[in-house]
Amino acid sequence: MQCQTVLPGTECTFWSKNGCVFVDSSCQNIVEECKGCDRIVEGAIGEVCSVAPSPSFKWGHGLCNMATHKKVEISSVEKKINPLKASKAATKKKK
Ligand code: SF4
Repeated sequence: MQCQTVLPGTECTFWSKNGCVFVDSSCQNIVEECKGCDRIVEGAIGEVCSVAPSPSFKWGHGLCNMATHKKVEISSVEKKINPLKASKAATKKKK
């Protein structure tokens, strides 16, 4: 249904016949880490995210996975190794 409060006319999964069913019955404003993201829109309560009702939650466990302005540094992420492939490679080396 369409939001009637923060982003009037925008389709939102949290809007129901009884109004907004999100925490505190409203989206939350963006957080400092969001600054520069293309998904920021101006709502009735100020700047909000167009895809996530709680930006602070999106950043609560590290980088927001929907952010357009920040990406995960590959060097900071441990390279994942497929244990099956690693085992096969180790076997080939022994031969
Ligand atoms: S997508 Fe993430 S970084 Fe961008 S505005 Fe929304 S919560 Fe903030």
